[in-house]
Amino acid sequence: CGIVGYVGGQSALDVVLAGLKRLEYRGYDSAGVAVLADGGLAAAKKAGKLANLEKELADRPLPAGATAIGHTRWATHGGPTDENAHPHLDNAGRVSVVHNGIIENFAALRTELAERGHTLASETDTEVVAHLLAESYSSCGELAEAMRQVCRRLEGAFTLVAVHADEPDVVVGARRNSPLVVGVGDGEAFLASDVAAFIAHTREAIELGQDQVVEARRDGVTVTDFDGAPADVREYHVDWDA
Ligand code: GLU
Repeated sequence: CGIVGYVGGQSALDVVLAGLKRLEYRGYDSAGVAVLADGGLAAAKKAGKLANLEKELADRPLPAGATAIGHTRWATHGGPTDENAHPHLDNAGRVSVVHNGIIENFAALRTELAERGHTLASETDTEVVAHLLAESYSSCGELAEAMRQVCRRLEGAFTLVAVHADEPDVVVGARRNSPLVVGVGDGEAFLASDVAAFIAHTREAIELGQDQVVEARRDGVTVTDFDGAPADVREYHVDWDA
């Protein structure tokens, strides 16, 4: 029900956790984070309140990194368990994704992935996206392009935010029938389901249009449609207090 992604000079996990707290009012049943650090990807996720996740992070700290994603889940497919909480990872543990919404054609995609040898670890509709991103990435070698290829195969409503261990300075997002906003800071960028997640840091925002993909880096963002054509972006100033 809430999504936050960050790349920049601050402790990415701290920024993402604070952002998730700003989105708590929307309601959720589980929470999780993933961070890119030391050439790899580390994740933690727990059913229940953010306090459960924070306790898990205190007991088993994740390495510090400059790029992270986080999620609060409102379960639609698969009960509110630790395994079903987001982020979801591919089998190699190199790509991680969070999702708000419903992937309507997930059952066919799960079957297809299982036939190709993927092991699915959760009961969610979301997990197929992590596996599909990993497959696309291994052929195209670029996370934003992998996201475009995968989105063209998805039906339903989705806000997706993903990271890949081989692209430690990039957070990629996509949306259809579900909101995604981008916060453009000074040497940092934010992706979120709601500006409330980042207005403590920046008030320069871009609202992603229908069927668009954003690639966020410290020095700026690039927006395209699902076919890779550059998209017009409308930057605006958030002048209200959340
Ligand atoms: N459909 C996904 C799930 O059940 C995402 C739910 C959400 O929007 O939080 O895991």
